[in-house]
Amino acid sequence: AQAEARKLAHQPAVTRDGCYIKVLANIGSITDAELAVNHGAEGVGLLRTEFLYLDRTSAPTEEEQLKVYQAITQVLDKQPLIIRTLDIGGDKQLPYLSLSVTEANPFLGVRGIRFCLENPQLLKTQLRAILRASVGHNIKIMWPMIATLTELRAAKAIFNQVQEELRQAGIPFDENMNVGMMIETPAAVAIADQLARAVDFFSIGTNDLSQYVMAGDRTNPRVATLADALQPAVLRMIQRTVHAAHAANIWVGLCGEVAAETLVAPILLGLGLDELSVNPQAIAPLKRAISQLTITEAQAIANIALEQDSATSVRELVYPIG
Ligand code: PEP
Ligand code: MG
Repeated sequence: AQAEARKLAHQPAVTRDGCYIKVLANIGSITDAELAVNHGAEGVGLLRTEFLYLDRTSAPTEEEQLKVYQAITQVLDKQPLIIRTLDIGGDKQLPYLSLSVTEANPFLGVRGIRFCLENPQLLKTQLRAILRASVGHNIKIMWPMIATLTELRAAKAIFNQVQEELRQAGIPFDENMNVGMMIETPAAVAIADQLARAVDFFSIGTNDLSQYVMAGDRTNPRVATLADALQPAVLRMIQRTVHAAHAANIWVGLCGEVAAETLVAPILLGLGLDELSVNPQAIAPLKRAISQLTITEAQAIANIALEQDSATSVRELVYPIG
């Protein structure tokens, strides 16, 4: 039975009506990458790169980063690897880059792409390392915390500049690398149609999207029931994002913690997500849950979920009674 379960975990997740849903892993280290592959991940949907920058006295060099990205691609072989550029700020600070003043509201401050655009050299170093690691592998880049088209364009301009510098120096990289962005601010949802025309994919970060949509700090347990991805308000933001992505012919995944709640899979698939990315331990149960439902049923459940009056009643739709 164990061998059977293992075999299942390593097969693609297909719904009973034949819809293939990609299941990838969220990772934050080389060890995690091994764990992901062993648990049946079809690649990495989110590599959180903060670990490279934390617990040290200076920023990691291009060579140091390159080694880590290469070690991960080694583990993943040809499977896709989505590398999110540095998402520092908020509750994570870098002592060696504390040039900025202490902020009263760090989650609303210079975080993620904002921080990187203020420190372009830091971003360029990371992008060079990622691009150099991309030769012969399936690496994609993903920007965190985008709220405006201006930020997206600025990030892409730096990316293009780094590519040009590598070309000039004769350093090889994947010329066709896909570039996507996280959807985790309400602003990004509101302009998702515009953003979708400027990227190759979206990945919805419901951990942050929920906190920003609901105005509830994700680290404050007193507002945890508010900052919940199953709040109808958040579900409607997901629905809107999926529509915008598909209207622009790009795919859209979800990499927030809610995707690991396997009973919620019908709602997420019913909303039209093309891919889910979860912690490695959640991959096998999630694939199993997907293989037990049909998209038609899932869509019906999602439509009911969108009309509920609370996250509690949304959960009641999919959780067993009692
Ligand atoms: C998210 O915000 O949902 C997400 C996946 O990113 P992180 O948890 O790293 O902020
Ligand atoms: Mg986030």
